[in-house]
Amino acid sequence: MGDVAYINGTFCELSQARVSVEDRGFQFADSVYEGITTYRREPFLLTEHLRRLRNSARAIHLPIPLSDERITELVREGVRRSGYDEVHIYMQLTRGAASRSHPFPAGAEPTVVMTFKAAIRVPADVRAQGVSVMSRPDNRWGSCNVKSVMLLPNVLAKQEALDRGAYDALFVGPDQVVYEASSSNVFLVRAGEVWTPQRSDKILPGITCDYIVESLPRLGILGGGRLVYLDDLLAADEVFLAGTTTETLGVVSIDGKMIGDGQVGPVTRRLYEELFASLTR
Ligand code: PMP
Repeated sequence: MGDVAYINGTFCELSQARVSVEDRGFQFADSVYEGITTYRREPFLLTEHLRRLRNSARAIHLPIPLSDERITELVREGVRRSGYDEVHIYMQLTRGAASRSHPFPAGAEPTVVMTFKAAIRVPADVRAQGVSVMSRPDNRWGSCNVKSVMLLPNVLAKQEALDRGAYDALFVGPDQVVYEASSSNVFLVRAGEVWTPQRSDKILPGITCDYIVESLPRLGILGGGRLVYLDDLLAADEVFLAGTTTETLGVVSIDGKMIGDGQVGPVTRRLYEELFASLTR
């Protein structure tokens, strides 16, 4: 009971889990990952996360040594072993440990790591009040649609935002096109419609983002993916972030400019109520 890890066939306490210093995940970020949360101890949108993991792995030519069925069993076992009410599941696959050299190593076994920790939700008061973000030039690598561990630009952007008193950073292209935040997708609400930047290699195809977009028709809301400029966000009635950990989180200011009336808007609140709060009740 407590934080649990799975490494290449074995479960152990997270504090005991070790990988080699020659692991290519550590040395080259030669690795892909997923982050998954549970609701009522059930991994949420697991099939979709596993599909994206396969797409990411295929994009970097990394074979996954386990079937989806086996991974699902291991995920359930990790959740059970952790004993937590709600669990954050982190899954990372690397090209394995091998003598350091750039080419793919011959014969190295992929490293499969999963960790199971208590899920931490955004505090209710933060969700009620909303957060501020800052925009910044996007200097990340060119294949942000691959969920790779090449996250240094994301790490630096998040820290810069925190240092400047914002909650997060939004990556914006040279043409003022908005992509996403450091670890979530972004949406705008305008005249009751809900839009998110259209898919490209500058955006991670968010599982939560898809879940929201696919839920819109059922909720009687128009929207989907389209080209979004920073000015569109600034002129929007509401802006919100979306992700596995973030769920939906209202943005009340960008670069110090107030969004809408500076409060978390009704559509953002409704989407949280209908798509996330209902999962925990
Ligand atoms: N964009 C980035 C850069 C992310 O790291 C994440 C979080 N994994 C997301 C978007 C949201 O994706 P998801 O809904 O699958 O968590």
